Amino acid sequence: MALVEVKVPDIGDFKDVAVIELLVKPGDTVAVDQSLITVESDKASMEIPSSHAGVVRELKVALGDKVSEGSVIALLEAAAGDVAAPTAGASSSATASTGGAPAAAASAVPAASVGAGSGGPPMAGVSMAQSSSGNEPLRAVSGAAIATAAAASAGTAATAAKPATAYTGAVDHECDVLVLGGGPGGYSAAFRAADLGLKVVLVERYATLGGVCLNVGCIPSKALLHVAAVIDEARHLAAAGVTFGEPTVDVAALRAHKDKVIGKLTAGLAGMAKARKVTVLRGYGAFVGPHHVAVEETTGSGQDKTGRTQVVAFKRAIIAAGSQAVRLPFLPDDPRVIDSTGALALEGVPQRLLVVGGGIIGLEMGTVYSTLGARLEVVEMTAGLMPGADRDLVKVWQKMNAHRFDAIRLQTKCTGAEATAEGIRVRFEGPDGAVSEGLYDRVLQAVGRSPNGRKIAAERAGVAVSERGFIPVDVQMRTNVPHIFAIGDIVGQPMLAHKAVHEGHVAAEVIAGELLGDDKLARTAFDARVIPSVAYTDPEIAWVGLTEEQAKAQGIAVHKGLFPWAASGRAIANGRDEGFTKLLFDAATGRIVGGGIVGQHAGDMIGEVALAIEMGADAVDIGRTVHPHPTLGETIGLAAEAAHGACTDLPPVRRH
Ligand code: FAD
Repeated sequence: MALVEVKVPDIGDFKDVAVIELLVKPGDTVAVDQSLITVESDKASMEIPSSHAGVVRELKVALGDKVSEGSVIALLEAAAGDVAAPTAGASSSATASTGGAPAAAASAVPAASVGAGSGGPPMAGVSMAQSSSGNEPLRAVSGAAIATAAAASAGTAATAAKPATAYTGAVDHECDVLVLGGGPGGYSAAFRAADLGLKVVLVERYATLGGVCLNVGCIPSKALLHVAAVIDEARHLAAAGVTFGEPTVDVAALRAHKDKVIGKLTAGLAGMAKARKVTVLRGYGAFVGPHHVAVEETTGSGQDKTGRTQVVAFKRAIIAAGSQAVRLPFLPDDPRVIDSTGALALEGVPQRLLVVGGGIIGLEMGTVYSTLGARLEVVEMTAGLMPGADRDLVKVWQKMNAHRFDAIRLQTKCTGAEATAEGIRVRFEGPDGAVSEGLYDRVLQAVGRSPNGRKIAAERAGVAVSERGFIPVDVQMRTNVPHIFAIGDIVGQPMLAHKAVHEGHVAAEVIAGELLGDDKLARTAFDARVIPSVAYTDPEIAWVGLTEEQAKAQGIAVHKGLFPWAASGRAIANGRDEGFTKLLFDAATGRIVGGGIVGQHAGDMIGEVALAIEMGADAVDIGRTVHPHPTLGETIGLAAEAAHGACTDLPPVRRH
């Protein structure tokens, strides 16, 4: 036995992060990758795994200590043969060495399985060949591009898994493709693979398919936002001389309406799985070897286990296990402290709601509760709400929504909170170090989501997982283990359903190509140039591609076409002309590189801008595309006309 120091590995940009939980104590026996401590930064908490197996002799950290990469966490009496085998990304140094086989390093995906680039407009190391029909995937990628993408996908160094040991026990199901997780990424991958002729098993721990998006994300939030928008719209009509009076809201009926919407969609998914002969196994799945997953059956509305386990043998696997809301550890464990799932449960409407985190999810839920009667406060670490969107877009939203907020605390962090009989008392520290506090009936934590990569025993399949739980993949969605793919939230940002769905299709097509010997399918790759973002607030904010701020930061000269909705016949007729549409064109090539829209239905319109970017359109292409009048969508054509000086719906451009 030899003593080894287990140290904090590379944890990306996180430095001096506080230890908030000790997960082991002296005398405990730990396995490689078993979590030792939890640390917390301003934005997220993460568990730090052990680089070695062995017995904890001494903990070198205490609660509240600040640690960075290289800080010693514990002294471990390492198991024989495990001393010189630290996992990549989790460095450790042995005080005595007894040798031992080095663990396999996280490697880039073998390039041999994909073809060479085949021309087309060059983009970020990936070359794209457009199919003539435009709807067939035909994207050839180079090995170098794949390696680069694999390294970049998860943002941080991945923990290399040890070479996996094969499972040799009994098997209950055999399939071509096992999909782990039935969210938008997982069910889309499963259905596409089945449509391509493969035998598919889909594993989901909850009673319904659809994942976060359908059950506790995109869909229920939009069902509630729609109701809120109608209420707000009815109020706006007072300006047109129509008054409805204040609405009375039956919260239980509203909740039932939202649940009915979810039920309709999830039932539809169950039917489609059946129609495609996809075997859906209900249970918690975890790898037990590189070609096997064990599924512990679950029952009821949650994750209660029945005690029965089935093992599935697969030729290929797609990991689509998604993400979960980040919990701020200093917030008390109290039913009045909720995350987005709790907010969507709609257990009444609080008088005072604090939203922690000024991103899209927090502000969407804030909008719903505010329209239903809550007064809002928001606290955000960065200098502005909705980080990522251009400030001019956010400014319009903020002006329209100022009436909802009692306070918007920017560059401010929550430093502590306690549950009292009167409410949740929260302490803040502002940009100047000033300390303040507030009392709330409910606190919604919306500070991001963390991937589930460290909860599926990926190491038993040899799959590399980053410290934060992301699984790095290449442009074909392949992990470091060539027959295992990963998609959706678990592979990285942006954590959006439409990204997950597209990635799911890519993984399914690559697998089908390989198993069925279809070379064209086998060379499919995810090479979307852009992925749109939408805040479904009122007004909506939607953007895609390069923002003005990014263009500036990257030194890319852009030419802007902007059409204010104050000049849009439809927006004025709707009584909602506060928004605008802007398009950004590369000053050198003239091609569109980005766009942003703020206004009603902005989310429904941004797809056209994404298509224009994918097709390499310029301002004339977009401006001369005949848009129907009078529509809000017309503002995209008009913004393009404004960019090339042909807009007759705006005052004349001054000539020199
Ligand atoms: P998930 O949807 O997380 O699905 C993963 C599935 O895997 C889950 O069903 C889970 O139960 C299952 N699973 C995990 N581990 C196991 C296991 N070990 N065994 C069995 N099953 C397992 N995105 C948008 O694009 N538009 C929006 O408007 C939008 N709104 C949102 C609103 C809210 C409030 C939230 C929280 C999210 C929203 N998102 C939105 C994000 C979107 O929901 C996610 O990006 C999307 O669901 C990710 O899909 P996924 O398939 O990767 O994972």
